[in-house]
Amino acid sequence: MAKIPQETIEEVRSRTDIVGVVSDYVQLKKRGSNFVGLCPFHKEKTPSFNVNPAREIYKCFGCGAGGDVFNFVTEVESLSFPEVVRLLAGRAGVAIPEKDEPSEDASETEAVYHALRFAANHFFNNLTHSHAAKDARNYLTARGVSSESVKYFGMGFALNKWDALLKEAEKSHVDPGILEKAGLIIPRKEKVGHYDRYRNRIIFPIVSHVGKVLGFGGRTVDPEDEPKYINSPETTVYRKSNVLYGLYQARQEIRGREEALLVEGYTDVIALHQAGISNAVATCGTALTEEQVRLLSRYAKRIVLLYDADLAGVRAAVRAIDLILSMGLAAYAVALPDGEDPDSYVTKHRRDGFASFMNEHREDFVHFMLSRARLAGKMDTPEGEAGIQRAILRSISKIPDLLVRESYVKLASEALGVPDMELRAVLNDMSASRSRSARKQQTFQKKGATTKQEQQAVVSASRKTRGRVLPEEKTLLKLMLEQGLPLIELILGNTSLSDFTEGPTRDMADHLVRMHEQGSVDQKAFVSGEYGDDIRKLSTELLTADIEPSVNWERRRNIPVPKLNDDAYEAAKSAMMFLKLDRIEETIAVQKEKIYRVEQAGEDVRGLQKEMIELHEMRKMIAERKFIRDV
Ligand SMILES: [Zn+2]
Repeated sequence: MAKIPQETIEEVRSRTDIVGVVSDYVQLKKRGSNFVGLCPFHKEKTPSFNVNPAREIYKCFGCGAGGDVFNFVTEVESLSFPEVVRLLAGRAGVAIPEKDEPSEDASETEAVYHALRFAANHFFNNLTHSHAAKDARNYLTARGVSSESVKYFGMGFALNKWDALLKEAEKSHVDPGILEKAGLIIPRKEKVGHYDRYRNRIIFPIVSHVGKVLGFGGRTVDPEDEPKYINSPETTVYRKSNVLYGLYQARQEIRGREEALLVEGYTDVIALHQAGISNAVATCGTALTEEQVRLLSRYAKRIVLLYDADLAGVRAAVRAIDLILSMGLAAYAVALPDGEDPDSYVTKHRRDGFASFMNEHREDFVHFMLSRARLAGKMDTPEGEAGIQRAILRSISKIPDLLVRESYVKLASEALGVPDMELRAVLNDMSASRSRSARKQQTFQKKGATTKQEQQAVVSASRKTRGRVLPEEKTLLKLMLEQGLPLIELILGNTSLSDFTEGPTRDMADHLVRMHEQGSVDQKAFVSGEYGDDIRKLSTELLTADIEPSVNWERRRNIPVPKLNDDAYEAAKSAMMFLKLDRIEETIAVQKEKIYRVEQAGEDVRGLQKEMIELHEMRKMIAERKFIRDV
């Protein structure tokens, strides 16, 4: 596919009315300068989905979705970016210069995508039309796979020849070098030339969450053939740790239910979808990875693991649970009866039988770990019982949200029959020893901090949960984003990047500094996703929301603060003061802990106490706003 010129994209954008486009999917009502409606990306009863026509952005305050009109159509239609541009161009009557041949400057990556799409079509046509695929079709029919599912998942068949794909590709001028880079053919060892990687196999295309073919899984038809599965090698476009099989087909359902069902095999996903359970996805032959959970977290709040009840299955489930919890999602687990996999179970018991089994056997991770331990006889000794308690608490300690963590402590207390006070004490011990070792690993030089106080501020700032945004940070970023250069000058002249919380907040401030250096602020770059999804979501939230810092701040400190729109400079100064106060208070808390520990060890604390006095003086100066230089 030829690349769409940037000026065409801009023309499509300027001729497209975001309210008109969104209205095709959402019933919108005008409210102030925004339009509001029920969010198409999550289930809700009261509207939290906003469209701002002046800024040409949308934002949902329920699920966090947000961006420009291109993002909206990408998400709602599950299309790739070029496809969305084409769709909107058609709507707005903008012509896109098309070339049939891939243009000469088309990057190698695009050529690889083209080759993968070509191969997917080739395999699909074989399975649906070729006489040689008769056995494969019979095999699928015998296993209950419908022709609708074949089409829906784009399944295919690789002919039992050494060069069927290679020859077909040559006819269509697809370069063998690119086919090799796409993982479709393998160079011959002793002779020149290549041979097809997949022969006499049913093909499962692995597509990205926006529907691009990335690679293939190939399953034998002949039971004599080994191995049972051949998967694409890692290529420039395919990293198996970044992809979930079936996510493209499952994403709307996952978003609606806020829940993803994680299984192991391609055929499990297909059988479940075919039975009408369409929030199922699978890892492609790997243990669950952080990237995969991050991908799921864009659609789901909960992940349900369907696992084998054998030892390896339980161990894998425990690892997956810790990972899911640490990424801020809820984890549940269901064990299938011995000898069953999701494919066989749902084929036998159909949708309703499967759903009621899931409801009956679904366990939150605390009960899951406990019941597995009971089954394994680990709760029979006091040592074993203590070990399980610690294991459960270790998993709880992974949960980033303190309130959620607290409710799991209560739940564990009931499940284990141990007072929650006791559990909390063990939990505190665990996190204290973890933050001690984390502090040892800190290297201050790398972060460029200079004074001792700043070093301590770096420690406490980085101890904070990455990615959380303080209210005063929202105000500062909003001011810089909306008011541009003079406010960036004021704010970043009086704060440093390390004052901002690590993660999207600090990254966004960093981009604003760079824009300042180049002389202009480009809001579009933030909301279009040029700096990643986290910043896209944050910036659309900032631009859509009316941030009223004064209410909370007055309550907090009894200091009158001007409203954001009344006086941007005053609002910025107050927000900077609060940010610096938050940071210095964190530093003071760390210092307090340190003094206590040194004192306990019977060592001299006078030096530390002197530093503490300096910190308190600094706090006073900040509260009196003496740090601000007007620029
Ligand atoms: Zn939403």
